Amino acid sequence: MRASRRGFLVNAAAACLAPPALARPEPHWIALDTHLDTPANLARPGWDILQRHSFATDLTQVDVPRMRKGGLNGGFWAVYTPQGPLTPEGKMAARDAALLRAAEIREMVAAHPAVFELAFTAEDAQRIAAKGKIIVFQSIENSYPLGDDVTLLRGFYKLGVRMVGPVHFKVNQFGDSATDKPQWNGLSPQGKDLAALANELGMVLDASHASDGVFDQLIALSAAPIICSHSGCRAIHDHPRNLDDARIKTLAAKGGTIQINSYNGYLIDEPPNPDRAKARGALYDTLEHLDAMTPKQAAAAVRAVAQGMAALDRKYPVPRATFDTFMQHVTHALDLVGPDHVGVGADWDGGGGVVGMEDVAALPRITERLVKLGYNDAQLAQFWGGNALRVLKAAHDARKVT
Ligand SMILES: [Zn+2]
Repeated sequence: MRASRRGFLVNAAAACLAPPALARPEPHWIALDTHLDTPANLARPGWDILQRHSFATDLTQVDVPRMRKGGLNGGFWAVYTPQGPLTPEGKMAARDAALLRAAEIREMVAAHPAVFELAFTAEDAQRIAAKGKIIVFQSIENSYPLGDDVTLLRGFYKLGVRMVGPVHFKVNQFGDSATDKPQWNGLSPQGKDLAALANELGMVLDASHASDGVFDQLIALSAAPIICSHSGCRAIHDHPRNLDDARIKTLAAKGGTIQINSYNGYLIDEPPNPDRAKARGALYDTLEHLDAMTPKQAAAAVRAVAQGMAALDRKYPVPRATFDTFMQHVTHALDLVGPDHVGVGADWDGGGGVVGMEDVAALPRITERLVKLGYNDAQLAQFWGGNALRVLKAAHDARKVT
């Protein structure tokens, strides 16, 4: 009796000392980014995704502490392959690089099973988030590594890949790129096979980086809604990598979603500067050759690249998009098609990031702004993850089960 009374008093005292309840409860939605280029960092010797890093010192934007801070539950981790020559040797080298990248994603999950979990379906995402773990969907950015045999896509599906984009910066064997001279008038015959196989498997087709022609044909051919995993609005910045209003509406009418990018050159006008581009290319090339280094050497090399980039920015200043610019693209898409067809694919670790939102830790700024604009919790839940998961589920449901 006495003990329980004392217990009551202690609890009452603790309650008095407890901080006042937060004005807003913790978000209850699942926040996903549909284009994480973070796997590119996984091969850096000694780089630990469980540690907090900073863009200023190692040019990374995503790690577990910063994801936790930003409230990001996970996303689509990209198997990205740069576009190389369309030769047998080029395609073979790309195939090997993509398989290695896919293995690195799975190794990350296997090394930290209490932190990450592979996700294959929309239901998996719910289950993994409920456990407080980070959701790891996989996607292919640039199908070039599939070479001349699209059936390799089946192998990637078995590895867990659930989203596929045919092209990157340049035209390839599957179709035209938004940023290259068209060669196929959209998809090539192989590109049409790729789209059909993605549908058959239940993979989401991703039209980011694709030309308008490819976008139109994916919309026409796909049995399921499609996604633009990291794209902006051409009405805000007229760049071929962005979608015009008519196409955003078509995408939404088909049940798809545009996931807004934070890549500087697509958000605002970045006048071409060949000297800067050359110097930047040389610096970034270092990052491709870290594997033979010790962790200490790799860390020093990365630091030198980060310092080199800062010096380059001083020598050749470029206009920098801000958080407000990014939000202009977000709100334009929202005004156009509503919160059931817009989300975030900020291109983290792939060139994304703006002044005021330099890494994933800053993501709550987006929510804060959208709340101010009057979006409610249900709409935010759609925006942050519901739309991407709906598209994933629709692709899965439309698959041809054999
Ligand atoms: Zn990209």
